[in-house]
Parts: sequence; C-alpha cells; structure tokens
Amino acid sequence: MKISPEILSLVPYKPGKPISETKREFGLNHVIKLASNENALGPSPLAQKAISQMTPELHLYPDASNYDLIQAISKKWGIPSEQIGIGNGSNEIIDLLIRIYCEPHVEGILTSEAAFVAYAVCAQAARVQTHKVPLRADFGFDIKKITDYFLKKPDKISLIFIANPNNPTGVVSHKEEIRELLEKVGNRDDVLIVFDEAYHEFVRTEAYESAIHYLKKYNNVIVLRTFSKIYGLAGIRLGVMVAPKEVVEVFNRVRNPFNINTLAQAAGIASLQDKKFVETSQQLVWKGLDYFYHELEDLGLPFVKSEGNFVFFDTKKDAMTVYNEMLKRGVILRPVVNYGFKTHLRMSVGLEQENKVAIKMLKEVL
Ligand SMILES: *Cc1c(COP(=O)(O)O)cnc(C)c1O
Repeated sequence: MKISPEILSLVPYKPGKPISETKREFGLNHVIKLASNENALGPSPLAQKAISQMTPELHLYPDASNYDLIQAISKKWGIPSEQIGIGNGSNEIIDLLIRIYCEPHVEGILTSEAAFVAYAVCAQAARVQTHKVPLRADFGFDIKKITDYFLKKPDKISLIFIANPNNPTGVVSHKEEIRELLEKVGNRDDVLIVFDEAYHEFVRTEAYESAIHYLKKYNNVIVLRTFSKIYGLAGIRLGVMVAPKEVVEVFNRVRNPFNINTLAQAAGIASLQDKKFVETSQQLVWKGLDYFYHELEDLGLPFVKSEGNFVFFDTKKDAMTVYNEMLKRGVILRPVVNYGFKTHLRMSVGLEQENKVAIKMLKEVL
C-alpha cells in the first residue's frame, strides 16, 4: 500500500513521561510529574461526584448533541448555544478544523515558530502545510509578521492559529496587536483566525484580553478553551470551540457522533459550577509561579514570565542532560527540544511541596 510522505514522516506526539514508567525505569517509589501542565489539585470534587453518579448509565450511548453541556457553557459564558462546539479535547477541534477548512497540498495554516505543536502535527496528518513566522526575541508571537505574511499570501492560508498564551513559552500576545490583526484580517471570508486560549483562567497581565468578545464584531474568529488545565480534567478529554454558527454547524457534521463520552459531559457541567475550585487552582498556580521566579532568579537562570500554569526557563546547560538528571531524582520536567530550544525546559506548577522538591533537585543537578 502506498502511504503519503506526510504520513510516513509523522513523528508521534511525545507526551510528558508518565509517572509509572519513570518509577519502573529508575527504581523510584516516589515521582513528581511537572511535565504536562496538569492541575495538581486533581479534578474538582463536584466533577468527581458527577462522574461516579453517571456510572450506572454507561450502558447507554452518550448524548450525541452534548445538549446539557452546551446549555451550561452557553449560560456560564453568555454565548448563544449555536456558537458552541465540543471536542474530545481541544486537540480534536484543532484536527477537525484543519481537515474541514484546508484543502490538502493547496491551503495551509499559519502560526508562529514555537507555537503549540498540535497545530503543525494535525496539519501534517491532513497533508496540509504549516507556514511559520519567526518568534520574537522576547519569545512572543510576532503578530505583525503573521498579519503581513497572510496578506502577502492569502491564497495559501485558510487558518491562522494564535495560542494566547502560548505553550511552551507562557507568553501572551498584547491586546493591541490582536486588535490590529483583526482590523486587517477580520471579517474576511477566506480565512479563519483561531485563538487557542487553553490557559485563559491563569492569565494575570493586563496586556491580555480574550478574543471571545470579538465574535460579535468579526465573523471569522474562533476561540478554543479546554477543561484539561484549570478544571483538571485532562484525562477525560474535553475541549470547547466558540465560533460563528456556520462553523459549528459544519464541525458537527464532521465530528464523530459520540466524540464526548457520558462521563466527560457530566464532569464538564459539574466543573463549571465549581467557582471555588477555579479560584483555588488559580491561587495555587500564581503562588507557585512566584515561588519559581524567586528561586530561578536565585539560581541565575533566565526565565520567561508565564501567563500559564508552567514556567519556561533556560538551564544554560544541555537541557536533555538536566532533564535526565532530574528524572533520576524523581522529578519529571518537559524538554522542549522539539520546539528548537536546546537549553530550555518547561516546568509545570505542582503542589507547594512538589515545587519545593523540584527546586531542591534542580539546585542539586546544576
Ligand atoms: C494543553 C493545551 C491545550 C489543551 O489540549 P486538550 O486537547 O484540550 O487537552 C490546547 N492548547 C494549548 C496551547 C495547550 O497547551
């Protein structure tokens, strides 16, 4: 059988190393994972309760329309329900948007270097080209370059992906720059602009604003959110798209009918009600980040101020060596060599005690 070169050269996504594997490999009893930007508090207690209440119904197919979940999101965010689409993680939404809107080998996607890797991986799997502009020296997206690139080659690009804040860098794009991008590219009927706001709830800087309110003004804006980070539901796979209703309508035709399982729907609805859990998660992350900044400064390691739940820092050594030495000591961090950073690592915020251990081990290793 013939397989296209794009598929043959695909590299499987390398997730953060699992705890169990690390224990086995290094003969450790206790391992701390700060590698996948998960919520260290676990899922909300309300979500856990909702999940166990649904188990007697698991012989039934899920609600294919995600009706209750969409109503709950609509009410909570003040968005018409026709503008909400649900995916098996935002990853599935990214995948489907590319399959829907990009003609293979003809139309591509546009993003930045060091953008969240899922965009390029999904594009490649769909035989779609990824166009990238260079990252700025401050590790931020160069929104102006992205705008100019698109305006020069509008025929070649159907989707623009802006991770805001971006992962692995933790940097947001300034609201003024987003405004300028939308003034030039908004309301065009040949391109959709996707704002991936996976870390929306963790942002502290005034420079940021969500693109969600631009859906009223521009008919080609899409916003992605996820339950994987703030809500601690990475294992259940639940992502949300807020988009023009025509986009949601097409998305619903293409997605698998039962892409969101019963437990995920129930957990999502319950999580949205747990305001206290969101606040506790935010406080944990903000306190943890400030602690990391303080310690990294002490260590003399350059870092980027993060608007996510992780910090991207320069070990000033070969990052893979530091990563492996940390593994031996029971701390899993995330290498970012695949993004082109050979001396940097990404470290998620954990529980207070986990953060302390991570810093202690980092001091030992360096
Ligand atoms: C973690 C993350 C997501 C979430 O992906 P899911 O598939 O919803 O778990 C999306 N975008 C970015 C930039 C992320 O870092």
